[in-house]
Amino acid sequence: MKTIVLAGRRLFMKWDNIAYFEERAKEANAAIVPVRSEDENDFRSAVKDASAIIVIAKTISREAIESLSRCELILTLSVGHDCVDVNAATKRGIPVSNVPAYCTDDVANHSMSLLMAVARKLTLLNHETKHTRWDYNVAKPIYTFRGKCLGLIGLGKIGRAIVPKAKGLGMQVAAYDPYVHDDIFQLLDVKREYELNEMLKNSDYISIHAPLTPETYHLLDKKALGLLRKHVVIVNTSRGNIIDEQALYESLKSGRVAGAGIDVMSSEPPDESFSLLYLDNALVTPHIAWYSEESLERVRIQGMDETVNVLNGKRPRYIVNPEVFGFSNTD
Ligand code: NAD
Repeated sequence: MKTIVLAGRRLFMKWDNIAYFEERAKEANAAIVPVRSEDENDFRSAVKDASAIIVIAKTISREAIESLSRCELILTLSVGHDCVDVNAATKRGIPVSNVPAYCTDDVANHSMSLLMAVARKLTLLNHETKHTRWDYNVAKPIYTFRGKCLGLIGLGKIGRAIVPKAKGLGMQVAAYDPYVHDDIFQLLDVKREYELNEMLKNSDYISIHAPLTPETYHLLDKKALGLLRKHVVIVNTSRGNIIDEQALYESLKSGRVAGAGIDVMSSEPPDESFSLLYLDNALVTPHIAWYSEESLERVRIQGMDETVNVLNGKRPRYIVNPEVFGFSNTD
């Protein structure tokens, strides 16, 4: 019988009860092997002969991939697949899939919620009104959204879902995404910025929706943050390491950046020393932008559809390394 390994602390945080996965695995004549231990050796010995591996935010290293004997699929039950060494999987001819669009609208809504809550200083006002005083002066200055520019880093599924929401508030939208064709910008009526620095200089709000890659690692570093308009608000629901968190902390502390809405961190959960936790102008949420009851349901259905199909000999639908079948993502 084939085995499907489920692993990663976050997967079991979402589903302590794995009956759904066990039931669906039967469609591929497979059994689920849950690996709840965080020990890498336990994980390695469980995946060695597995036919499929399903994880959330669990690192699957080159070494682990090289030890696999009969793996037909590595699946991340998430949009981001930066936890998997995709190059190593491609070299071994192992398809890697994600679940690309189960939560697009929820992430767009969470991003806009962070943006509006930070710009309207809701957490400060809530705290002051309940515990201290009835005085709006404490929140000054607050600026209007209408006529202001939202700069998007990444105009993929989530970036595109944000556009009508921002326009509904009367904002102009610009985006930096070197991999999207002009016609998409035209269709959405979004100003194309060919240079990230130009967009940073011209935006009142910045929202990040690019994947974490070697190219986007610390894309917003000290130098880039130094280009921003004073009073800018930054939202990051993408991946923590796209911003240099220490540089962001210094910009927020000095007031150079007015506020930040942060759903993702370089290390999750953050330890007590994570400096953004201690700033009033940083609103922090626990990597929850994806969540709604509907998304939670959708991700496991789509993930298990993909796994069952692949183990039954079909092509993966959500493949991120089509090179293993002789295609590239631009074919
Ligand atoms: P997507 O693949 O549809 O879009 C990503 C876009 O980023 C693409 O258009 C791509 O061209 C662009 N991009 C790639 N490199 C870039 C670069 N160097 N500069 C600017 N743009 C670049 O993905 P999506 O569905 O929009 O998701 C975006 C990211 O959001 C995911 O990669 C994931 O990390 C994150 N995410 C977070 C949560 C959460 O709960 N916080 C949930 C889902 C997704």
